[in-house]
Amino acid sequence: MKNELRIFCPATIANISCGFDVLGVALDSVGDEMVIRKVSKKGIHIIKLEGQDLPMETHKNVAGVAGMAFLGESDYGGGFEIEIYKKIKAGSGIGSSAASSTGAVWGMNQLLGRPFTTLKLVEFAMEGEKLASGVAHADNVAPALFGGFTLVRSYEPLDIIPIHNPKELFATVIHPQIEIKTSDSRKILKTNITLKEGIKQWGNVGGLVAGLFTEDYDLIGRSLVDHIVEPIRSILIPGFNEVKASAIASGALGCGISGSGPSIFAFSKGEDTAEKVAQSMKNVYKKIGIDHDIHISKINVEGIRKIN
Ligand code: ADP
Repeated sequence: MKNELRIFCPATIANISCGFDVLGVALDSVGDEMVIRKVSKKGIHIIKLEGQDLPMETHKNVAGVAGMAFLGESDYGGGFEIEIYKKIKAGSGIGSSAASSTGAVWGMNQLLGRPFTTLKLVEFAMEGEKLASGVAHADNVAPALFGGFTLVRSYEPLDIIPIHNPKELFATVIHPQIEIKTSDSRKILKTNITLKEGIKQWGNVGGLVAGLFTEDYDLIGRSLVDHIVEPIRSILIPGFNEVKASAIASGALGCGISGSGPSIFAFSKGEDTAEKVAQSMKNVYKKIGIDHDIHISKINVEGIRKIN
C-alpha cells in the first residue's frame, strides 16, 4: 500500500440561498492541494504550508484538529505528515477551512485502507470547522467529501443526503477582496424567525432539492431565494445588490451569498451563460473599484480526488 498521496481538495459553496447550514456543493475549478504521508512518529505534523499565512501548529490548523479527531478513533499506531498548498483564500466564503480539514481525513483514510465511512469522515472534519468558526457545521465538509450537492438533513444524529447534480449546471463565484470572518458574520444573525419566514424558507429548500433531482432549471431558479439570512448578511458585502441584479439580468438562474461571504455565487444553465454572468459581475466591481477573483466551475461530482 502507498505511503503518500497528493490530492485535490475542492472549494465549496455552502448555504446556497435558502439552505442555511444544510445545503452545499463542491466546485471543480478551484481548490487546494495537499500531500498526506504515513510516518511512524505519532500525531499529525504539518510540515509545509504554502499560499496563505496560516498557523502550522497541529491544534491551531483545521487539518491538524480534524486529523487528531480521526487518530483519536483509529487503532493505527503511527502518525501523518501533511503538506498544504492553499489556493483558496482563508475567509473567502468558499470553504477554505473545509478543504483542509476534509483533505486531511480523506487522505489519511485512503492511506489506512479506508477504515472509516464517508459519514464518519464528515464528523472528524467538523471538528476542524469548529476551530475555524466556533461552530461544527457540515455544509462545506459534506460536499467536499461526498462530491456534488449535499443536504445535511439532521445534525443529531448526523444524516447527509447526496443530491443529484444537473448536468448543465455551472457556478460562477466572485470574491471581492475584503475579509469577513465566519464568526463575525454569524454574530449579526438573529436567533429567531417567524413562522411566516420559516414557511417561505422550507418551501424553497424543498423546491431547490426537487429542482436538482428533476433537472428542472426553472424550479432551481425560483427556489434560490433566502428571506432570512441574505437580507442581513448582504449588508456586509459591498455592491451585493448590484452584483446580484447584474447576474440575473445576464441569465443566471439565481444568485446569493457563498457561505458566510464575502464571495457571491450564481448558478447558470450552461457554461456560456456562466461566463456572461461572470463578466457582468466583474463589471460591477470594476465600476466601484473593488479588486476581485472570479471562478467559473462545473459541479464537482466526485469531491476530493487523488492527483498524480
Ligand atoms: P471559509 O469562509 O473560506 O470557509 P473560514 O473563515 O471559515 O473560511 O475559515 C478560515 C479560518 O480558519 C481562519 O481564521 C484561519 O486562520 C483558520 N484556519 C486554520 N487552519 C486553516 C487551514 N488549513 N485552511 C484555512 N483556514 C484555516
